[in-house]
Amino acid sequence: MAEQGSHAVVLGAGMAGLLAARVLSEFYATVTIVERDALPDHAERRPGVPQGRHLHSFLSRGTQVIGELFPGLLGELRAAGAVVDDGDDLSRLYVRIGRYELNPPGRLADPGPLAAYQASRPFLEFHLRRRVSMSDNIAILQRRNIVAPVLAGGTVTGVRIIDRDTGTASTLAADLVVDATGRASRTAHFLATAGFGAVPQDKIPPTGGYSSQLLSIPPGRISARMAFVNQGSGAPGAMLVAHEDDTWMLAIAHPAECGGPPRDFAEMLHSAERLLPAEIMAGVRSATCIGATSISRNTAGVWRRYDRMPQVPAGLVILGDALCSFNPLHGQGMTMAAVQALVLRECLRAGDTDLARRFYRAAARHIAPVWAANRATDQRSTSAAEGSVRRRLNGWVQRAALRAGSADIAVTERMLRVRGLIDSPARLREPAFLARIAVANIRNPRPHCRATAAPRAALSRIAGQARRRRPAFSRNTAH
Ligand SMILES: Cc1cc2nc3c(=O)[nH]c(=O)nc-3n(C[C@H](O)[C@H](O)[C@H](O)COP(=O)(O)OP(=O)(O)OC[C@H]3O[C@@H](n4cnc5c(N)ncnc54)[C@H](O)[C@@H]3O)c2cc1C
Repeated sequence: MAEQGSHAVVLGAGMAGLLAARVLSEFYATVTIVERDALPDHAERRPGVPQGRHLHSFLSRGTQVIGELFPGLLGELRAAGAVVDDGDDLSRLYVRIGRYELNPPGRLADPGPLAAYQASRPFLEFHLRRRVSMSDNIAILQRRNIVAPVLAGGTVTGVRIIDRDTGTASTLAADLVVDATGRASRTAHFLATAGFGAVPQDKIPPTGGYSSQLLSIPPGRISARMAFVNQGSGAPGAMLVAHEDDTWMLAIAHPAECGGPPRDFAEMLHSAERLLPAEIMAGVRSATCIGATSISRNTAGVWRRYDRMPQVPAGLVILGDALCSFNPLHGQGMTMAAVQALVLRECLRAGDTDLARRFYRAAARHIAPVWAANRATDQRSTSAAEGSVRRRLNGWVQRAALRAGSADIAVTERMLRVRGLIDSPARLREPAFLARIAVANIRNPRPHCRATAAPRAALSRIAGQARRRRPAFSRNTAH
């Protein structure tokens, strides 16, 4: 263990904060996490993480990372009731992208990395927090508001906090402060007022909104464990995921052109009928709602480019959503927080000289390809030129890949690995892969599609309306 200093402070006990604290505990004698909420001793939603009411998919790469950082945790999740898909039986997943169902016959060559641990966000966070709080050198200070970092001569030396129960203000001294306070992080504002200049931001505009509803469905009513339907740009999409305790999360996404997200379960059902196969809908209709429908329109992406600042303070690192928040429809935020925790570990292994700058640059190398893929998927066409050759070619290749994936399990496996952030998107452009797509298209020119609960005539009508409305939503990838 290479000890860098005596005390590190992590701001925020969300996913990024917990993962960062675990990493810092390898390098600092003590680690303190400061959190404004009272943290429940069981899996429960809490005010500081309002997004916990929504579907929270953990991608394959994120699952790998938490397994690496917390040996035995994945087994604990399984034992506690997470719905585990070992990746060896694609028949338990229903995936339709555009017209193509990605449920080809056969078995994955390497199912291990694609194992999915399906559970609610409060469940995941609780189990992670339980493991973090078992560390001898990590303490969690709850019900403390973080006011601002303390700066001395260009170095952050601690943080000012207020006890929410007593109103007492105090300063926690630290050799390193890690900001993991999420999307609402105030650090960019703090740095600007402290003379470091404005933090440049990259943004991807929002793609509409979606609604999530937690459901209780009696066991055995739905044989699939997960259903995902992305009809492409400008059309509604759906996701249904089995969670712990016979609960399921249904999410329905609507682009703005389709009238905004459904307002209640009845409206969600109305959309779901047109998206999900009849046998799955039969189970959904037997569901009992748990709590109210949650609606989110916050689908923009924001990347605060600390890596581009001419000067950043020493002793401060910003990660998780505070650094880059992704369109939640892609389900990448927790996984990218986990990836950044590993990046921080690599940077700390090389010592603490110029740590912040090295971290932002290294993190940017991991964020950039995911950001670029999201931008390509999310961004509305901004000029006629974009409808030109390159765009049409990309669209053609993507459709060919999906058509191939509906018949060739090796193609599906490659796409699932990229989607799960196990592999880089560049792997979808490798010549051998493109050749495989071409062969599969020649052998299987017509995809098979299971009937949805809605009659086909209604489906075509909706698809036609969506096309006329000028597409904007979730073009080609899963969310
Ligand atoms: C609607 C929605 C749906 C999403 N769905 C997915 C999904 O399917 N899959 C996925 O991987 N990601 C998803 N995300 C993103 C995911 O929630 C985040 O990327 C992930 O939680 C990592 O965030 P974080 O730890 O940086 O911040 P958060 O999880 O937001 O945690 C921040 C913590 O800081 C605390 N805090 C904030 N300010 C202060 C303060 N001043 N003082 C003290 N404490 C403070 C908060 O209470 C909270 O505990 C979704 C996000 C949204 C908004």
